[in-house]
Amino acid sequence: MLSHRARFRMVLVVVALVAASAPAAAAQGAASDRTAAGHSGAPMKTPTAYGYGGAVSTVDPTATAVGLDALRRGGNAVDAAVAAAATLGVTEPFSAGIGGGGFLVYYDARTRQVQTIDGRESAPASMREDSFVDPATGSPYPFQAARVSGLSVGVPGTLLTWHEAVRRWGSRPLSAALVPAAEVAERGFAVDATFRQQVADNAAAFAQFDATRALYLPGGQPPAVGSTQRNRDLAVTYRQIARHGVDTFYTGPIGADLVAAVRRPPVADDPAVPWQYPIRPGEMTRADLARYELRFPAPTRSDYRGFEVYGMSTPSSGGVAVGEALNILERFDLSTLTVTEALHHYLEASALAYADRNRYVADGTSQRILGELLGDRYAAERACRLDPTRAAPKPVPPGDPDGRYGDCATAASGVEADPGRSTTNLTVADRWGNVVEYTLTIEQTGGNAMVVPGRGFLLNNELTDFSFAQTPGAAPDPNLPAPGKRPRSSMSPTIVLDDGRPFLALGSPGGATIITTVLQMLVNRIDLGMSLPEAMAAPRASQRNSAAPQAEPAFVDRYGADLAAFGHPPFAGVAELGAATAIEFTGRYGLVVAAEPVRRGGGAAAVLRPVR
Ligand code: GLU
Repeated sequence: MLSHRARFRMVLVVVALVAASAPAAAAQGAASDRTAAGHSGAPMKTPTAYGYGGAVSTVDPTATAVGLDALRRGGNAVDAAVAAAATLGVTEPFSAGIGGGGFLVYYDARTRQVQTIDGRESAPASMREDSFVDPATGSPYPFQAARVSGLSVGVPGTLLTWHEAVRRWGSRPLSAALVPAAEVAERGFAVDATFRQQVADNAAAFAQFDATRALYLPGGQPPAVGSTQRNRDLAVTYRQIARHGVDTFYTGPIGADLVAAVRRPPVADDPAVPWQYPIRPGEMTRADLARYELRFPAPTRSDYRGFEVYGMSTPSSGGVAVGEALNILERFDLSTLTVTEALHHYLEASALAYADRNRYVADGTSQRILGELLGDRYAAERACRLDPTRAAPKPVPPGDPDGRYGDCATAASGVEADPGRSTTNLTVADRWGNVVEYTLTIEQTGGNAMVVPGRGFLLNNELTDFSFAQTPGAAPDPNLPAPGKRPRSSMSPTIVLDDGRPFLALGSPGGATIITTVLQMLVNRIDLGMSLPEAMAAPRASQRNSAAPQAEPAFVDRYGADLAAFGHPPFAGVAELGAATAIEFTGRYGLVVAAEPVRRGGGAAAVLRPVR
């Protein structure tokens, strides 16, 4: 029988031949409603591109165009990724920006090492385990009360991530990445249906704050599709940082304004619709901001079917959960199964990994436990809970990473219900073979709804990713708030190597569903023989150890009945899971660049030298 890798190579050759003989594929989707305003020659909202010389995939055509331009001017993958991210702060302001945080995974072609930057927001020194418990009632605040407040704002790490990424690995100063984004903010871009909808969904929260209302609710309404959205304050902010450096944010006047907004939320005198909850102040100080530090944890690693899968370690649970699930799946030869059988294994492995993630993984989890959770012997123990013919009742209990292996483990469980959330992801490669996979966020779509007055960027509500309280009677929750702690994330920027060279880079937004989206795309590509664009477009499901797993309508239509026969509970329908980006490296055949064809309005993939 052919090994997985040998089979893969065959798929790659086929993909490359199709790419070379079907250049129309690169133009697919070009007839779109969303163009990059002001960028002549900018890529359209194109979900797939094939070619050479470097590539960019983001959710947004303007950001992709700016990233590609950085590559074209000789910048490397890090320069281009930061330029694209800074542009996303303008064009995708409800998901990304200098008011938030994120995780960057970098493959360095020269050293062949994978390194990471943890730019996750951290809790201020004043944070307490009960900070999200209402002293008046003794109960946790309702989510929206906590979100739209100063309490939810973590000390942002995004700008320092950009600074440090270009300092370590880039070839140009940070200003070279910020100035093009400032130009987009000044010149403006065309509002599309996704942007408008994101404002509409947040209209009541945005209306509470003059600065947010002025920027995103012109005349009290969400901006019209096709209108030009500008953000002059953000342009000035970016230029100020470009000129004076990141200290102007972390210890200077921009930071002073940020902290003032957290401590005295800039509530409008006359919000048209009063907010349903009191808008509580936070306690972040300028010292918290000045003290913020990036971390550089070693990536997680799991070997899967001959590939090396690198991901993000804590405080993200992404790398551990994706890695553990892959290790469990590796005990089964999915390629010999029907698609439904393979999906059954995918769903069950997700639930098992999620049980462990919920129980054990958060900021501060010991290296010993992380190592156990990613170990093959632990996976073997967990895999004996995966019945190839029958879904286990959910929730399944977590395992016991106690260093002893033997019979199938038993223990108690906790389940995480996670609402749909939003963030953004980008993938960049350069002609030298360097790769950046970067997921950045301000947590909810629209963050905490506060634009820092005069500065043009939204604040995050990342601290609501902490558990608000210990569940009575449950095992100790590792994700309770504490001073300086970082809330657990699910962001899963992932780089897959084949014998030390890039094979695939991918990531997605989607809150807790990020983990399953990345895992499902890997299974689709590696085990089910789909091409990368197919693996991305395929309908998704998310089983996070819940009796009510989620799935997109097309997934339910196609597989729902067959999976029910395995004992899977009915799927709760959700319109969309994730909004991924990815690049596949096909050796001498070049690059397959993928963005979403449909989800979140479709993304923008582009390559420097397309195959024509
Ligand atoms: N705050 C979420 C996390 O860190 C990300 C939100 C999203 O991806 O939509 O896991």
